[in-house]
Amino acid sequence: MTYPTQPEASHFIDGQYVEDASGTALPVIYPATGEKIADLHAATPALVDRALEAARRAQPAWAAMTGTERGRILRRAADIMRARNRELSELETRDTGKPLQETLVADATSGADALEYFGGLAATLSGEHIQLGEDFVYTRREALGVAVGIGAWNYPTQIACWKAAPALACGNTMVFKPSETTPLCALKVAEILKEAGLPDGVFNVVQGYGEVGAGLVSDVRVAKVSLTGSVPTGRKVYAAAAEGMKSVTMELGGKSPLVIFDDASLEDAVSAAINANFYSTGQICSNGTRVFVQDGIREAFLTRLAERLKAVKTGDPLDETTNFGPMVSERQREIVEGFIAKGQQEGARLVAGGGRLEGEGFWIEPTVFADVEDHMTIAREEIFGPVMSVFGFATEEEALERANATIYGLSAGVFTRDIARAHRFVAALQAGSCWINTYNLTPVEAPFGGMKMSGVGRENGRVAIEHWSQLKTVYVATGAVEAPF
Ligand code: NAD
Repeated sequence: MTYPTQPEASHFIDGQYVEDASGTALPVIYPATGEKIADLHAATPALVDRALEAARRAQPAWAAMTGTERGRILRRAADIMRARNRELSELETRDTGKPLQETLVADATSGADALEYFGGLAATLSGEHIQLGEDFVYTRREALGVAVGIGAWNYPTQIACWKAAPALACGNTMVFKPSETTPLCALKVAEILKEAGLPDGVFNVVQGYGEVGAGLVSDVRVAKVSLTGSVPTGRKVYAAAAEGMKSVTMELGGKSPLVIFDDASLEDAVSAAINANFYSTGQICSNGTRVFVQDGIREAFLTRLAERLKAVKTGDPLDETTNFGPMVSERQREIVEGFIAKGQQEGARLVAGGGRLEGEGFWIEPTVFADVEDHMTIAREEIFGPVMSVFGFATEEEALERANATIYGLSAGVFTRDIARAHRFVAALQAGSCWINTYNLTPVEAPFGGMKMSGVGRENGRVAIEHWSQLKTVYVATGAVEAPF
């Protein structure tokens, strides 16, 4: 059977779609209905080798182009992505189940932003000059070589672009492995980059499960590995990369705090808590899933939240008025249901949701627990679904200590009208991305990444260049060479 969303082939290698039907079957399921929408295959070792070889072969010529030339291709790709936003957003919705209302503004558009931003930076890459009397030193900012990107399933287009754009801007080539759950969108990124003039072999996509990722990470041709995924996978990938002394970026999970003081704007705080827990059906790494609300406004917060939840609209994700989609997969729904059951067993008060929605697909209600205590499982572990935990607190000191009492350190938010407190609080938070009086905004201009177990390195912002390139120091002598004998 052929599906409208069936890609030309499973992989994109050396500028072309490539199939090898002997690879493990990789069915693609539309989360809103549970229907199959494409049949793909995981890459065989021979295809993985072909992709890495193509990337290795293409890299010197790509790095030898000027930054302006590389950047022009990336910026052209950004324009094509924007022009095709609707089509790409519909595919993203089919791949992930996220409502079109979201994907139209948050996925291909964010990918295009990254291609445009790093396309612009490509021409500015430079080293420095250090005068040492008559002698001098200069540094060259050079590419790392062949990079591997491995993606999670929640933002397949964005993740591919957030990795490819800085990698390619710096003169690296890439083999990207999307999540096995959402394999469709990265193929479009590859197609668009080719259309924009990217030389063959510079960006390749191979599909597969964890073992394909593991094969890529351990290959000697690979100089850099960038993973977006869970902490357990991050541990394995980091260890495997360390074996080959490869550079890494690890964008991992979180259990981030959102702290709301009595003096905050209640309406804005509720909006932020909704965005921080229910956007993308809660499947966002930086979500503020531990919502600490100061005692004076907690009941008002819960009341207003309950009212706002009445405006949740489920239904066909391709209908632009739908504002809440299904979980990405049956498996992810089961994981989230397990956490909801644990929350109830351990004594948290369920104040909204908690159940499945009737019908086909992997739907689950937006869920809120109140009276959550720090020792409970739902307070400590990443759920990666639409489950908000609300905690009480009395003082700033208490909120800070409890906000930081986690192995994770991806993100955090604070709501207060007291500007001194806002900055003091944020300075003491152990989290890579913090927001004051908002939540979950991640523009490409701002560095993004985790502290503690949430990751290593940063994506986005100028600083990403340092994670996708290396420095060479060149000492230049101008006089005679002295020697002891
Ligand atoms: P996951 O860790 O299960 O898988 C991530 C990717 O790693 C997949 O492509 C998978 O095939 C691959 N993989 C699995 N085992 C591997 C191995 N041994 N070697 C190499 N690759 C391997 O994560 P997921 O369930 O797809 O995504 C959800 C997780 O991702 C959550 O923890 C979430 O917080 C995290 N996430 C983080 C960010 C961020 O930027 N910090 C963004 C999105 C998602």
